[in-house]
Amino acid sequence: MRRPLVAGNWKMNKTAPEAAALVEAFIRVVDYWDKAEIVVCPPYLSIPRVVGLVRNSVVHVGAQDVFWKRNGAFTGQVSAPMLKDAGVTYCLVGHSEKRGRFGKLEVPESTLSYFAETDETVNLKIGALLYCSITPILCIGETLQEREEGRTDEVIKTQLLAALKGYEDAELMDIVVAYEPVWAIGTGKTCDTPEAQRVCAMIRGVLRAICPELGERVRVLYGGSVKASNAKELFAQEDIDGGLVGGASLEANEFREIILSAR
Ligand code: PEP
Repeated sequence: MRRPLVAGNWKMNKTAPEAAALVEAFIRVVDYWDKAEIVVCPPYLSIPRVVGLVRNSVVHVGAQDVFWKRNGAFTGQVSAPMLKDAGVTYCLVGHSEKRGRFGKLEVPESTLSYFAETDETVNLKIGALLYCSITPILCIGETLQEREEGRTDEVIKTQLLAALKGYEDAELMDIVVAYEPVWAIGTGKTCDTPEAQRVCAMIRGVLRAICPELGERVRVLYGGSVKASNAKELFAQEDIDGGLVGGASLEANEFREIILSAR
């Protein structure tokens, strides 16, 4: 039996005092909820403050990214040992906003190369996190163009296999995979529930083919415009073990409703 997980990705929102206010606004009402694991991923600078606030609660703290080297001349980067030291237990990897896979939704093409995450760097980041016992939340998903070209399954399988390449099955047992169709992120357009379920089941099938236990154990989340109004239906699907929530995790009441939809 897989325990549902709901993770909030705050992206580049909330100063440390604002982050503290948000945590304080929902923590009391979700603290009794033992039916799902709850993770919040604040910006790096708010992590210490949030870790302090959730210490005796059911809420875990995640980071939004990591660099794969342990230390060295890598200006502006944050390593897995640094995250570990700060109290981080989960970390997003390969989010589409890092992969630069926005297509042409709203930013000019040249801007995309600022982040330039690739399948190879995603793979290295997973290794760095596993080494520090931080649980990776691996984000994978197709762009609108890839979907329209009928390449969704191929893109998802390629991203998944590339991310996990070279690791022992036993090392991967606790990772989390988030299916996040790029066209559904921050757009208000949620993937239809049957289609989200189909892709998540396909992801589970790929994991099962690597190792049957992996298919049974790994939690597969859906992400992309999850809201209180659609969370219950999405989370009720057999192969959707919770959600990765962006915008709706910034509002305490909305996030609380989403969390309470996971059981
Ligand atoms: C995300 O950033 O991972 C995400 C799913 O965002 P949103 O919920 O705002 O679509």
